Amino acid sequence: MSQDAIGTTLSRRRVVQSLGASVALGGLAGLAGCAGFSEPAPTRKLGRVAVVGAGFGGATAARYLKMWAGDSVDVWLYDRSAQFVSCPLSNLVVGGSRKIENLAVSYQGLRDSGIVVLQDEVTALDPAKRRLSFNKFADQTFDRIIVAPGIDFLFDQVQGYNGEAQKTVTHAWRAGPQTVTLRQQLEAMPNGGVFVIAIPLAPYRCPPGPYERICQVAHYFKTAKARSKIIVLDANPEIISKKGLFTKAYDEEFKGFVDYRPNSRVTELDVAGNTFITELGDRVRGDVLNLIPPQRAGDLIVKAGLANANNRWAQVDWITMESTAAKGIHVLGDATFSAPAMPKSGHMANQHGKAAAAAVLDLLAGREVRPSTMANTCYSFINDRDVVHVASVHQYDAGQKTMVAVKGSGGLSSAANPTEGAYAQSWAENIWADMFARLA
Ligand SMILES: Cc1cc2nc3c(=O)[nH]c(=O)nc-3n(C[C@H](O)[C@H](O)[C@H](O)COP(=O)(O)OP(=O)(O)OC[C@H]3O[C@@H](n4cnc5c(N)ncnc54)[C@H](O)[C@@H]3O)c2cc1C
Repeated sequence: MSQDAIGTTLSRRRVVQSLGASVALGGLAGLAGCAGFSEPAPTRKLGRVAVVGAGFGGATAARYLKMWAGDSVDVWLYDRSAQFVSCPLSNLVVGGSRKIENLAVSYQGLRDSGIVVLQDEVTALDPAKRRLSFNKFADQTFDRIIVAPGIDFLFDQVQGYNGEAQKTVTHAWRAGPQTVTLRQQLEAMPNGGVFVIAIPLAPYRCPPGPYERICQVAHYFKTAKARSKIIVLDANPEIISKKGLFTKAYDEEFKGFVDYRPNSRVTELDVAGNTFITELGDRVRGDVLNLIPPQRAGDLIVKAGLANANNRWAQVDWITMESTAAKGIHVLGDATFSAPAMPKSGHMANQHGKAAAAAVLDLLAGREVRPSTMANTCYSFINDRDVVHVASVHQYDAGQKTMVAVKGSGGLSSAANPTEGAYAQSWAENIWADMFARLA
């Protein structure tokens, strides 16, 4: 079915729905006329907005735009995937305490809210014409386009990490089949085997994510394969998030399991030899390898000329979330050139989504856009029960024209604990409900 056909079906359905509503209202108005009720004014059409990417940023933007604008804005949401699969909690699949099926959420709640959700690859974005091209559908133009494609990987920065090598050496940095493969590889590994994980230089998606993954694998080894070891090759000079808490976990709860090596950037992969090679020439062999490559904004951003920070990330106006390279195109989530101290996280992308929805609606209505305050909480599972968090609040600074962390806000757990384990599960359920318009 073409988009036009889908659009027609949708607008027909809307007409029927609104007719139904006005019949009901008309009836009420007729009955209540003498009591002073009047017909509601017809909704003014403000425009058509496309959202590319139905992850943390895009789904939230689409949902809030529709919720706030109602029928005055037509919202079209595109994703190449048929359903959402959450990266948050996916390290628990690697650790063995969760199944990937439990991390999937359908887009039906968004469809039921009146958003047109279509599954297709967006192959090109023409910022000047505000036009999208697709694999299956015909080109479409919009009044504004919100782009939240997440990240793509700089595979070429690790020699030998080609398509063939990616079949056996996972990154598992997008939740899905690779997450399951990594778990299966760990299960198949003999007791006494070595797991080697390579962490890229920041910035990358989810700063504490690799360190949480190390805890999850260490927890699995401690309970099921006690003679096994983990070697961490971190390109960064130190643990870059929740350092004290992760160090304590490696030194105490997982004593003897984790060999952490800072300043160890992996630049080459010898697949046949199951070996990582660092820029200093160190060769580190493992039974299971996990290579998280350096990252940049999703391909679409780069191809559209929006990656105006080192050809990697998209700079945005933090009031409107509009690209600084193109008017009318808003960029969200991991794809943005992060403001100082702002992590690339699902929670943050969700906040970007709400800020963008409000800004797009104001811009379409010709109103002034006011900056949003954004908050972030990132939970990390140390084992299958105990959790730590880091939180921050970010506000617009008009002088610096960027978001800055609010002094004295946020905080860090004092120690891993099961209460936060329950909070972390609730956080996930609640943010999925918030993004996808469904009950938690
Ligand atoms: C192991 C791990 C653990 C994590 N844990 C946490 C956590 O505990 N808390 C937290 O807040 N964050 C966590 N994160 C980070 C979080 O997953 C990301 O920051 C978040 O997904 C970013 O949201 P986004 O909208 O920018 O991108 P995504 O959520 O990745 O969404 C992008 C969407 O765009 C679609 N897309 C891309 N290009 C196209 C195209 N051309 N056409 C059509 N569709 C396209 C993709 O299919 C995808 O659905 C974790 C990440 C990892 C890897």
